[in-house]
Formats: sequence, structure tokens, C-alpha cells
Amino acid sequence: MQLVFASNNANKIKEIQQLVPSDIQILSLEDIGCGVDIPETADTIEGNAILKANYVTENYGYNCFADDSGLEIEALNAEPGVYSARYAGSQRNDDDNMNKVLENLQNETNRKANFKTVIALNMKGEQHLFTGIINGKIIEEKRGTNGFGYDPIFVAEDYSKTFAELTMEEKSAISHRGKAVKQLISFLQNA
Ligand code: IMP
Repeated sequence: MQLVFASNNANKIKEIQQLVPSDIQILSLEDIGCGVDIPETADTIEGNAILKANYVTENYGYNCFADDSGLEIEALNAEPGVYSARYAGSQRNDDDNMNKVLENLQNETNRKANFKTVIALNMKGEQHLFTGIINGKIIEEKRGTNGFGYDPIFVAEDYSKTFAELTMEEKSAISHRGKAVKQLISFLQNA
């Protein structure tokens, strides 16, 4: 079976291909001739994952899954959430985004936050959602150089290192994305 992953990130595509059952061939957007940057206009993480998966299924007819992730901070009413990539502006700069979070949390004692990934899968005419969440907190300064996004300021529950101080393997084992992908894989193995 062919299954489109609504992404053009070669690393993400390769990683998923290695995890899914061997009778599933993962196709990228480029593979199906979709050169459009699918607009992420929903106001929730779930909404954007659904929007991307539906775009492919409706326009190209393929079974497809899409993911969307974000950081939710309790004291900021779950911001930046769906706006995580462009929290400090359209330049999508990780450092600017982290600085804005740290500024907004100045003098705030509630540092609770979570990362969330939603994967929307359209398969055989049905839609399935898989959600992965990792709870933790925002620390007061950046630490570590691995990873991306808000990793240097996020410490997972029961950990002392930030996500940016963990190896990729250590992070994937507990991360929001890792958890959502595990659910998708186990669904596909039993489908
Ligand atoms: P995406 O949907 O995976 O592209 O994630 C959207 C944005 O959320 C990213 O650009 C990051 O700012 C933030 N984000 C998502 N996942 C992570 C993560 O694992 N670490 C740090 N930041 C993340």
C-alpha cells in the first residue's frame, strides 16, 4: 500500500519509512507532484494536521497522514500552541521565539508546559487521530545545543536535562512526536 506523509522533510520521510510495516511505501508530497505549501490556517494543532491530511486526500486521492506540533504553556493560556513556529514573527526564528517565551514568563512561578503532536491519518475513507503529549516545564535560561525549536528551554517531567541536552535517541523515546508516531505505527501494524 502507498501512504503519503504530507511532508517534504527527507529525514522525517526516511525515519517513518523504516518504522512502518514493509508492505507500506511512504510517499512524500514531492513524490505525488504536490508542490504546494499547504496553508496551515487552522487555530488548533489538531486542525492543522487534519487540514494537511485532507488537502492531500481530497486533491490527490491518496491515503495520507500529516502531523502538527506545538508547545503549550499553562500560564500563557496554552500559547504559543499552533503558533509555535512563528510566535515572535514570520521570520520563524527559534531564538526569538524562546526569548519571547522567557520574557512572557518573567516573574511567573507557574512554569508548567507540554509539547503536543497530533497525527491525522486518512485511510480507506476514515480519519484517525493520534496524539502524543510530554509534560514538563519551561526553565529560566537556555541550555544545550541539540534538537531545535524550544528544546533548550524545556525540561520534561522527572528529568533535569533540557530536550536540547538529550541525545536524539533519548528525546525520541519520550517526546510528543515519538509517542504519536508509536501510536500510528501500531495502528498500521494492525490495520
Ligand atoms: P512542527 O509542526 O513539527 O513543524 O512544529 C511546529 C513548531 O513547534 C516548531 O517550529 C517548533 O517551534 C515547535 N516544536 C515542535 N516540536 C518541537 C520539539 O520537539 N522541540 C522543540 N520545539 C518544537
